[in-house]
Amino acid sequence: MRTATTPAPEADPRIPFPHTNTVLACRTNPALFVHEHGQTSSKEDRDRIERARTACRGCPIAAGCLKWALANPKLTPTGIWAATTSWDRAGLRRRLQIRHGLDWVGVVAAADRDRARRNQARPPAPDPVPAASPMWTSHYQPWREPLTPGQQQRNRELLHLQA
Ligand code: SF4
Repeated sequence: MRTATTPAPEADPRIPFPHTNTVLACRTNPALFVHEHGQTSSKEDRDRIERARTACRGCPIAAGCLKWALANPKLTPTGIWAATTSWDRAGLRRRLQIRHGLDWVGVVAAADRDRARRNQARPPAPDPVPAASPMWTSHYQPWREPLTPGQQQRNRELLHLQA
């Protein structure tokens, strides 16, 4: 247990908490996200945890939040983070370790850096609206005015419709 003299654990700098200007549900209503391991006994708790999970599922930084929570077990020993309980997170950390080895945080951080570099190097996406064709812009003018009687007569003659 932490005491007043125990220094607060440092966050792992390799996976920073994602930035967002969105107002986060866990900041406006932190009580909803309180969760101790095994705290699912009462219906009230289960409902509250489900509400916290639902809020996380709609959060724009949920993926980054989950990575941060997994990389910082000492900062997230309890509570709901990115819709996970401490039990869920322990399982996910075990799977990441099996897949990427003991330094899985370094592997995930390196993959994030590579992805960010590739996204920066990528040319901007083309305009989704295709450019107007030159024929349309330089020659064709949509008809707007009613035909004059003279134009109507000429058209009838051209089409051999004259009575
Ligand atoms: S996903 Fe993370 S940042 Fe978003 S509401 Fe849940 S705990 Fe907060």
